[in-house]
Amino acid sequence: MKYLTLLLLAVVFMGTVGVSSPAVAQDCDTEISERRTRYDFDVTFNWSRRLVQVEQTVNYRNEFDEPLTELVFHSEPHRLSRVNTMTFYNAYEGEDTVLPGVTIEEMRMTVPLITPIEPGCDAQVRLVYDINMSELDEERNPLGWLAYTPSQINIAHWFPVIALYNHETPGQWYTTERHFIGEQAVTEPADMHAVIRVENAPENVVFVAPGAVEEIEPHVWDITFNGGRDLGMSFSTIYVKSEQQVGDVTVEMYALATTYRGSVERALEDAAQALALYEEIYGEYPWDRFVIAEGAFPDGLELSGMVFVSTDWFIGWNGNNVHWLTVITVHEVAHQWFYALIANDQSLYPYLDEALATYSELLYYEHYYPTMVEDWWQFRIRAYGVGTDPVDSTVHDYTNWRPYINTVYFRGVEMLHEIRQVLGDELFMRWLSDYVEANRDGVATPQTFWGAMSGFSYASTADLRLQYLNNPDPLAE
Ligand SMILES: [Zn+2]
Repeated sequence: MKYLTLLLLAVVFMGTVGVSSPAVAQDCDTEISERRTRYDFDVTFNWSRRLVQVEQTVNYRNEFDEPLTELVFHSEPHRLSRVNTMTFYNAYEGEDTVLPGVTIEEMRMTVPLITPIEPGCDAQVRLVYDINMSELDEERNPLGWLAYTPSQINIAHWFPVIALYNHETPGQWYTTERHFIGEQAVTEPADMHAVIRVENAPENVVFVAPGAVEEIEPHVWDITFNGGRDLGMSFSTIYVKSEQQVGDVTVEMYALATTYRGSVERALEDAAQALALYEEIYGEYPWDRFVIAEGAFPDGLELSGMVFVSTDWFIGWNGNNVHWLTVITVHEVAHQWFYALIANDQSLYPYLDEALATYSELLYYEHYYPTMVEDWWQFRIRAYGVGTDPVDSTVHDYTNWRPYINTVYFRGVEMLHEIRQVLGDELFMRWLSDYVEANRDGVATPQTFWGAMSGFSYASTADLRLQYLNNPDPLAE
């Protein structure tokens, strides 16, 4: 009896193994990361040579119906044409099989595979390249987030990110075209791990990055950052850190020690307030830390879990509540939802993040400084004039920043505000929070943005869409 049971179990067990073994043999059932894309970086940064040597292992899971014969990347370092930011050496499959035929055209890097990735399978490709840092320079390298200055070294948007497959055209990889106005990346969230070794660094260097960061040896940092769309890093020997807690999130400020007069405390407070408000309106912020670094370059920049706010705004702060320091700080905080949590095609539909981030500034003032709302309209919007082009213009429609911002940001704000008047506060705010909920971790489009409205709201805003948009009926397509 006992023997028979064992025998039966053995037969059942063998049968199970027999059925599933082909998939196991292809190693396709192993989820290497929660997300489709995972990046593992082994980075050596030579401080004195300003040289970043990178081995980037990309793990990509084919969640589509057909085999993939190539991987395509958006390479932001190739955005600069006057400095040679990236020296690319090789792409490898497996341990050391060189993949021939890698091409880089503008910002599109194509890596042909020897072994196609079958549906449901993970593949690993290793990219080996250098990032040659250059000094911030208006002519040659105006991108302060991928440059060094006398006070800091900023290494952001420094690696090729996997492009979108099946996005605009079925069966095609989608990348955007290089342009010097606005931003162009459109990416998926990824799980990331990096080890950053810094050679020849001064003793007192401070390292800034999002996620879980640990100095595992002197000048060797280990970063785990899951769900980001980029991985920003910054070094300085004069960063002064301060922090504030917002629920479960630690808001950290890294200010350059040259900054005075209470502006650092002020920006930290603004960021903490904005984060609390936007969590209430748009839903949970996805990480444990939110990092603000003072950037010794103009304006500011949104990254995942991290932002830069320009030195200009810290130094120029005059104590007023409506000032660039607060406006830009809370704007960059809002990008944690409208860029980091929800991506969009920043090239073709920049209003989906910029108009919403700018409108979020207004929501901040309404909540914390209701008596200053008019001042915000005057200071931020009216002083520059509102553009007359369609709000859904692309970055390629512009050759100057001012008309681009006046239309996409400011006329975008006017459109949203008029929609709010038509729908009323409750339906308007529900639209925005439903939009965030439905597009979390995804890539939004005009269809998903307007599709987050109820049918009633969509119908009631038809006239406004006709007035403000090139494509007034995105849901009709
Ligand atoms: Zn912005």
